[in-house]
Amino acid sequence: MLTKSYRHHLFAASLLTVFLGTFFTAQAKRASQDGGSVTTVVIDAGHGGNDRGGIPGQRVAEKDMTLDVAQRLKRVLAASGYRVVMTRDSDVFVSLGGRVALANSYPNALFVCIHFNSAKRMGAGGIETYFYSRDSLPLASAIHYFVAGGAPSSNRGVRRRGYYVLRKTRIPAVLVECGFLTNPTEAAYAQTASYRQKLAEEIAAGVRGRNSVTSALTTTRVATSETIPLQPYIDQTKVAKSERHRSKRSHKKSVQRKKKSSKPAGSETKAASKDQEG
Ligand SMILES: [Zn+2]
Repeated sequence: MLTKSYRHHLFAASLLTVFLGTFFTAQAKRASQDGGSVTTVVIDAGHGGNDRGGIPGQRVAEKDMTLDVAQRLKRVLAASGYRVVMTRDSDVFVSLGGRVALANSYPNALFVCIHFNSAKRMGAGGIETYFYSRDSLPLASAIHYFVAGGAPSSNRGVRRRGYYVLRKTRIPAVLVECGFLTNPTEAAYAQTASYRQKLAEEIAAGVRGRNSVTSALTTTRVATSETIPLQPYIDQTKVAKSERHRSKRSHKKSVQRKKKSSKPAGSETKAASKDQEG
């Protein structure tokens, strides 16, 4: 049964979707053109090498899916006139510090991290997009709008969280979770080349449309940098109460871990286990 709060969130999410839909229709032409100088996009394929990603026993290796989507995204963005830099372009391990250092060496670039989610509960599914700094919100909103809109999976919302690669980058940085590889339906999609191509095209559409979403958010007061908490600001619309509770516990744990150690190594552990949080 729907709770009152659930219905409220669902209604708010629907309103936002309708508004953004209208907005993008009106702005579609402008959004598809960046104009001006060439923008650099640093694409970060999650995991790699010894770091398989996901949870123990997971059948589909996250590192393979992230690399394939990243390489497709590279081709789509390059075709749109972007300069693209990859944190990895093969099955190798790259430290989180190395990824961040590369991103920060391009001061006017955008940083896009590609991941897939996993959970012990097979039914868990959906698309979620993370950002940390205020400058990253427009890019996160735009990427999420297109990826979640184009995917058959549920919309888990745009969320603010202090992942290492998001906290340490000095350029707009977004981490998109392109679905759950532990969910049989989403894993089946992820394993088809056409779906991974679609994911790449939707992420690219978000990159191209990032400036349009900035205007949309400032005019609707959906969120401002001051009002965005570290928890989801667009609430999860299709997540069970127990799952939300678990997510809060995970957040608490990560805060405790952060208190213990703010070293990159500690953060790496946190980031490596992040996919288990949802
Ligand atoms: Zn991952």
